Amino acid sequence: GVVAAEPATAILGGPPAPRPRAHASHKGSYGDVAIVGGAPGMTGAALLAASAALHGGAGRVLVGLLDDRPAAAGIAAALGATHPELMLRAVSALDVARQTVVCGCGGGQAVAAVLPRLLAEAPRMVIDADALNAIAADAALQTQLRARGDRAQFTVMTPHPLEAARLLGIDTGTLQADRLDAARRLAERFGCVVLLKGSGSVIAAPDAPPVINSTGNALLATAGTGDVLAGFTGALLAAGHTAFGAACSAAYLHGLAADSWPADTTLTAGALAARLHVP
Ligand code: AMP
Ligand code: MG
Repeated sequence: GVVAAEPATAILGGPPAPRPRAHASHKGSYGDVAIVGGAPGMTGAALLAASAALHGGAGRVLVGLLDDRPAAAGIAAALGATHPELMLRAVSALDVARQTVVCGCGGGQAVAAVLPRLLAEAPRMVIDADALNAIAADAALQTQLRARGDRAQFTVMTPHPLEAARLLGIDTGTLQADRLDAARRLAERFGCVVLLKGSGSVIAAPDAPPVINSTGNALLATAGTGDVLAGFTGALLAAGHTAFGAACSAAYLHGLAADSWPADTTLTAGALAARLHVP
């Protein structure tokens, strides 16, 4: 599905290589995704990412909410009732060294405190939203991200234009004027795969020409669709795709779902997550 050519104007035009689920597989074959996010008032972002990870075929999905208020126990109980497949854990109880971590969805300020451990221990990561903002604001976290070394090929950053502009220290207008260059610079600076979202999402890696995703439309311009993309990307990483492959396939299928959206239905992020699947 990926066509790449110099100088980086390739269009990603096809579905991902099929990876059929082997008859003799079990949930351990598809990996654990741990969602770390959902600060007070933003629980839904973590839940949308978790739902997308389930629909993306993850073996198990755990949710570590960044909400330690007493009231969070009630929220957690409600989540368990509406999403019985999910496993709710304290963030400190997640075994992140064995998991694909999707962090930052509804992360709020609290995600900054847990990022050092996630960056140090998680073998595969999707870094989204407030985790990106925390990294933009903290040179020590930037150093730690670059130091992930070999794990960079299993690390995806998923900024929207404002998050990307903060990471580069430029304004959004400048960034949007050359999205390919911005994505490439971010990938080089942090040594990982970058999925720069928006109309014509760009996927860039430190060592390969960037590609532009060919699917998606303005139906996706609604709250929570980015959280869905992050969780879905996490499921593909957990299944064994590289960061570049996971980012390209997730962007393509997420956009394809919007392009084939039923005409008599409004696209909401929750419904989008429920329609996603990996062919
Ligand atoms: P976020 O801003 O984090 O909620 O992410 C929004 C998601 O919707 C990303 O996957 C964007 O690429 C996608 N999206 C938003 N607006 C558009 C648009 N006008 N055309 C195509 N995709 C879009
Ligand atoms: Mg977002």
